[in-house]
Amino acid sequence: MGRPQSLAPNPYKEVPFMEMCKAGKIQYLKPRLGAQGAVAGFTTRHEGVSRPPYNSLNLGSNTLDSSHNVEGNRSLLARSVGATLDHFLTVTQVHGTDLLVIDAPNSELSHFLKLECDGIVTNQPGICIAVCIADCVPVLLHDPVQRVVAALHAGWQGTAANIAGKGVEAMVTLFGCDKKDILAAIGPSISGCCYEVDRPVRDAFKKAGMAWDLVAKEHAEGKWMLDLAAANRLLLSDAGLSASQVQGTEFCVSCNQELFFSYRRDGGDTGRQVGFIMLEEQQ
Ligand SMILES: [Zn+2]
Repeated sequence: MGRPQSLAPNPYKEVPFMEMCKAGKIQYLKPRLGAQGAVAGFTTRHEGVSRPPYNSLNLGSNTLDSSHNVEGNRSLLARSVGATLDHFLTVTQVHGTDLLVIDAPNSELSHFLKLECDGIVTNQPGICIAVCIADCVPVLLHDPVQRVVAALHAGWQGTAANIAGKGVEAMVTLFGCDKKDILAAIGPSISGCCYEVDRPVRDAFKKAGMAWDLVAKEHAEGKWMLDLAAANRLLLSDAGLSASQVQGTEFCVSCNQELFFSYRRDGGDTGRQVGFIMLEEQQ
């Protein structure tokens, strides 16, 4: 693996960046919350069967890639992490903050695929929950004490609407989690080096009361470079998680074409990587 082009100094300080590793044939970034009873990661585009421009581990069904290829890729990932394809669960992401909560055994999950929401929270083992990403920020949460996990999709709209904080609150209010026990991982997204935004994005962040100047730099009249991962780090801090509970990555998906899909870089016609997490069955 080559050195990432956009190697940023680690803003997390208290926690090292997550490591690249392999499960079966799948190469993925492994956060430390993928331990203590959970399997978790952020996939790369390596392996899989999809042809260009979806080459090759395209896990997103909302692309023009063949559904057979996507299903084959999902099956490969599911097998590699010890899940089954019918328990690999994504939803229809719409840049909102609604969450799907699964708090009881459910053998039939396929009807959730069309559900419009941007995160999944569950205390059920054996369900590999995932969010599809090609620039936006994937956020994973894990409480190893109450045994609850969450996968959240945060583009600029979901970030401005604080889906990260809502994920934490759902774990606390619905499952009795203690914020001190929740570990978070912010996966690879388009970084401040490559993510130019304009006034409507800034206005949405300011309207939401976010510290815009801490997460964006103006580089031309009415144009800013926005660090979405940093914004989500702030939201997790506001939600009550300390810096030592949050892990991140140095990778910008746009700068690292060999490893990641990027919607902006590839002009919209590209695949999707995922952030996934699954509670393991207790021994
Ligand atoms: Zn970049």
